[in-house]
Amino acid sequence: MSTAPLAAFTEPDRPKDLLIRFITVGGSYVDVTGPGEHSDKNRWSCHGCGDSSQLIQGDFLFCIRPDANTHATTCRAIPLK
Ligand SMILES: [Zn+2]
Repeated sequence: MSTAPLAAFTEPDRPKDLLIRFITVGGSYVDVTGPGEHSDKNRWSCHGCGDSSQLIQGDFLFCIRPDANTHATTCRAIPLK
């Protein structure tokens, strides 16, 4: 079984503070943005469904990374814009 996205969409512009971008199973993207590895101001957000980090203030990259990757693994929303 293929794990490739169902459809390919144009990658959105990369924000200046982009740390990691995961492609989702729906063909959208989850962006991890923030100051860097050891900052607690990093956040993730999904271009497909609009979901994002649950912590308002953000978190360290080692906490955000697995959450963002897990979301990308399960999110089937396609980008609408
Ligand atoms: Zn999503």
